[in-house]
Amino acid sequence: MFLRGRGVSEEAIKNGKQAMGKTTVCGKSLEEYITLIEKFHGWAAPGVVIGGFMVDWAQELLGHDVEADAIVETIHCLPDAVQLFTPCTCGNGWMKILDWDKFALCLYDKKTLFGHRVWIDLSKLSVFPNIYNWYMRLVEKKELPLSVLNQAILSAGREMLNTAPVQITGYYGKNKKGEIRICPVCREAYSAKQGLQCLACQKEAYYKYEKVTSYNFFQPIGTLQEIMEEGSKTIA
Ligand code: ZN
Repeated sequence: MFLRGRGVSEEAIKNGKQAMGKTTVCGKSLEEYITLIEKFHGWAAPGVVIGGFMVDWAQELLGHDVEADAIVETIHCLPDAVQLFTPCTCGNGWMKILDWDKFALCLYDKKTLFGHRVWIDLSKLSVFPNIYNWYMRLVEKKELPLSVLNQAILSAGREMLNTAPVQITGYYGKNKKGEIRICPVCREAYSAKQGLQCLACQKEAYYKYEKVTSYNFFQPIGTLQEIMEEGSKTIA
């Protein structure tokens, strides 16, 4: 028995193929599918493996010829499955990510807003105790080896999921880029929504420069009054 990367055995692939009742997931053979996940995500994370099955089902229900957008209800793992197996990415704006920690996604027609929601159905996990314990965080990582968990996931496939047709009512459409302004303190361009200075200069910076002397512009360039005047000039 060989291990593919970190955590999917040959046996798991074999079982998975039997369980799927079809030869591909997201248009890939199961071997290719796992390899792509490992390359993109760094390892065969259970959440991405499940996520691919969710995307596969949603695409099948929606039809492959539909121009689809995605809404994902967790920041963990699932966005990577959407980015890997659909044209929707964080950067192109076709995928919205909600930080709800719900393992669910919608793929929908961007013109009609009709789509399908796919989610992990807890009631179906009663027959997959390893997946349930992992999903509900009831088990330590060292008690449940990745290869065992992934084998359970590949064997379960869609059996752990549920789907429903939906009409999308929020979080769709482009996030428009707003007005841009030059920060009077750091002299970088930023979104005017942040106020008269960029958020970093309003003490929200998550970094500090090692050599402040190299960044003269980082010194405040005037009194608050002057900065505000300069800001209002930029607005006008
Ligand atoms: Zn600034």
